[in-house]
Amino acid sequence: MELNFDDKVVVITGAGRGIGRTIAERFAEFGAILILSDYNQESLTDVSSYFTEKQYSFKAIPCDVTNKDQVNQLLEQTIEYFGKIDVLINNAGITRDTLLIRMKDDQWDAVLNTNLKGVFLTTRAAAKHFMKQRFGKIINISSVVGITGNAGQVNYSASKAGVIGFSKSVAQELASRNVTVNVIAPGFIETEMTQVLSESVKENFINKIPLKRAGTPKDVANTAIFLASPLADYITGQVVKVDGGMVM
Ligand code: NAD
Repeated sequence: MELNFDDKVVVITGAGRGIGRTIAERFAEFGAILILSDYNQESLTDVSSYFTEKQYSFKAIPCDVTNKDQVNQLLEQTIEYFGKIDVLINNAGITRDTLLIRMKDDQWDAVLNTNLKGVFLTTRAAAKHFMKQRFGKIINISSVVGITGNAGQVNYSASKAGVIGFSKSVAQELASRNVTVNVIAPGFIETEMTQVLSESVKENFINKIPLKRAGTPKDVANTAIFLASPLADYITGQVVKVDGGMVM
């Protein structure tokens, strides 16, 4: 079976750079129509230029996932432009790392609002369209630290664990409408988010990875392609780790 996403409408949050951008590019390579969204206008312009150059089908819609009105608009505009949504990928995420005793309320709130409430807002806005269509694939990007925890990331790991519980619940609510909801939990992936880590921290991570390398955004994107394809029609409520075997 040859994979193609011709005429499939794929909405991606945080598509301006890193894993989100690579997921968007990968879907475009397979023929999908992309709704690229990000709150960073500069990176959205950047990815839009690349998509235009490649002659991919897309619309760029600025959207801060913590803003309910912008999120609702993102989904309304998607339907207005293309009449449907086939795949929603909740990828936007941030870190504000520090130890619990030093953590400020605003560091907690920012991470929970973006990584967890953002996923709730977009999924809720998309759900009514998915239910009406009786088709849909939702893929939420969590993290292995949502499963294992991580010192210095109490806010981030709580938000990512929240995404897993949220996704399993939505999977149960929407299954009868032929909508699947799955989670990708990446391990250590080379992006601008992880570039800020020191060489020794990176080395320490890689030593714990059985496959002995950091993951690439493409490793994550390929998993998203699989989960959004008909090959994964019977998979819902699952968490797929893309981590080189770091967490077994
Ligand atoms: P990144 O920082 O390179 O990219 C994140 C993107 O999300 C950026 O374009 C940013 O502008 C956007 N964004 C942030 N807040 C937003 C908001 N409120 N509204 C809209 N867009 C917003 O990060 P990345 O490494 O590509 O991570 C992507 C996802 O993968 C995140 O959810 C992250 O938590 C998760 N993840 C990453 C790693 C890793 O090792 N890089 C590991 C596990 C999970």
